[in-house]
Amino acid sequence: ARERSARADRLESLGQLAGGVAHDFNNLLAIILNYADFIADEVSGDAAADLSRIRNAAERAKSLTTQLLLFAKREPTRVEIIDLNQVVTEAGELLSRTIGENIRLVCRPGPDGLPVRANRGRLDQILFNLVINARDAMSEGGVVVVETDYVELAEGAAAGLPAGRYAQLTVSDTGCGMTPEVRDRLFEPFFTTKPADRGTGLGLATVYGIVGDAGGTIGVESAPGAGTTFRILLPSAVAPAGGRAGRSAGELAHGH
Ligand code: ADP
Repeated sequence: ARERSARADRLESLGQLAGGVAHDFNNLLAIILNYADFIADEVSGDAAADLSRIRNAAERAKSLTTQLLLFAKREPTRVEIIDLNQVVTEAGELLSRTIGENIRLVCRPGPDGLPVRANRGRLDQILFNLVINARDAMSEGGVVVVETDYVELAEGAAAGLPAGRYAQLTVSDTGCGMTPEVRDRLFEPFFTTKPADRGTGLGLATVYGIVGDAGGTIGVESAPGAGTTFRILLPSAVAPAGGRAGRSAGELAHGH
């Protein structure tokens, strides 16, 4: 059995709590929106404007609870052997179109295929969260660099990781960076320094969960004014040849 740290346990129970609350709230918000629709035809003037404010707030709350549900989601996801380079290239194209004009996204896929055992949607989620955070940290513009490579770790080279080959994903930005206080709390669910209508504090908690489920680690280097680099290591997937106790592609694993 895989040993679990107290931190992972705490994140998991917070996730379950969040999921339960989000589920109930989603139902209640659906009722609010429903009744707002019922009376929409019957009111006019100021009352109609007020009603539309109620609707907008309820819609925003609903999108928040939907994100919460995504974070707490414990449904099994399909795990396959995926080339991390391909994910970076494809997601990069999409992201460069949404990231804004004053920000340059540079993708540097590694030298050759980087097979990892993961769920495609979850890998996209990692990239989106990290790149969008980088954008948010660069209000004046800047550069985000997404790089992949493989690294060979010796025994004891990285805490919590066995020796072997890993696929490495780094996302670096030239943004505002963070203080040690923020860096220490990054991965906590609901920790955010953004205004309430912009940040949920769930992005990095979700990323942390996905990386952990895939048997990897995530680290961060950052200082105020010096930009930020996130570094993710995922175990390299070896083609399922006999002997080695690897899991086969297509197997279902519990995602975060
Ligand atoms: P959210 O984006 O909703 O705030 P996250 O969990 O994704 O939630 O991030 C938590 C906090 O970590 C952010 O509010 C921000 O303060 C900090 N952060 C994350 N990524 C970066 C980055 N690239 N540069 C500076 N600060 C960051």
